[in-house]
Amino acid sequence: MDLYTETKFLMKKYNITAKKNLGQNFLIDENVILDTIKEANINNTDLVIEIGPGLGTLTKYLLEKAGRVICIELDNRMISILNDRFSLYDNFEVINDDVLKIDLHELIRKNKERLKIQNVKIVANLPYYITTPIIMKLLEEKLEIESITVMVQKEVADRITALPGEKNAGAITYSVYYYSEAQKIRNVPNSSFIPEPDVESTVIKLNIRKKPVIETENEEKLFKLIKLAFMQRRKTLINAISNSGLLEKNKIKEILNQLGIDERVRGEELKIEDFKNILDRMNIK
Ligand code: SAM
Repeated sequence: MDLYTETKFLMKKYNITAKKNLGQNFLIDENVILDTIKEANINNTDLVIEIGPGLGTLTKYLLEKAGRVICIELDNRMISILNDRFSLYDNFEVINDDVLKIDLHELIRKNKERLKIQNVKIVANLPYYITTPIIMKLLEEKLEIESITVMVQKEVADRITALPGEKNAGAITYSVYYYSEAQKIRNVPNSSFIPEPDVESTVIKLNIRKKPVIETENEEKLFKLIKLAFMQRRKTLINAISNSGLLEKNKIKEILNQLGIDERVRGEELKIEDFKNILDRMNIK
């Protein structure tokens, strides 16, 4: 049975209509799944955490490769479908919860202790209404994971895989770059899903760095400064910072001069090291 027929069959059998508010667009393109699995580079010593398995289309392929697959799904209608489909696999587990609320540290710790797991990998076709919070949670919590291979909106993929200072960069580019090396795997047409989403999609992979790309004593302040610069991205950095009331214009000018940075610079032109150097001289509490 091809994936379109199988998905239609499962939806009919279990009386499922896709919930838009949960970002439900079910994948029906086997080539996309095979490319995702290949790039995620999964083997039998891996624990794969799949976020939002839905009807289990991607899950089935993950179960064939991984030592263990733990699925986290918010929609309780999917839980019995997944259990029906995969109860014969002894490496399958599903948790009915919100991925944004779950303690992933604890989940990983417990499974590493119990099983011969060498690496933890995240693989998912993400619900688009919470793409950024999910990715930021996975990165900021500094989980013991090796990689994140996920489908996201093309527009988000363009931002995430840009390098700081490039045209497509946004505040998220800097956070993602700080924690990982991002690459685009492939674009995915809208026709690869039912129902078809309103936006185009891209599979990306984030390879988590062993340690962040720069050393800083205060990550939180660094990313606040970067966000502030991007909230007013058409303004010069001097205006963006002084408008926010964080520091007076002449003080920022002085810092930029000390660092040899042009006074007319906009935040989007700066590298992550530049923001760190500026922050170090701002001396803010
Ligand atoms: N993996 C399936 C596929 O590729 O066909 C479904 C992907 S669909 C784009 C996103 C899935 O995420 C849905 O099954 C949805 O119910 C689930 N989901 C939405 N919000 C969630 C949350 N906060 N936590 C966990 N799962 C969530």
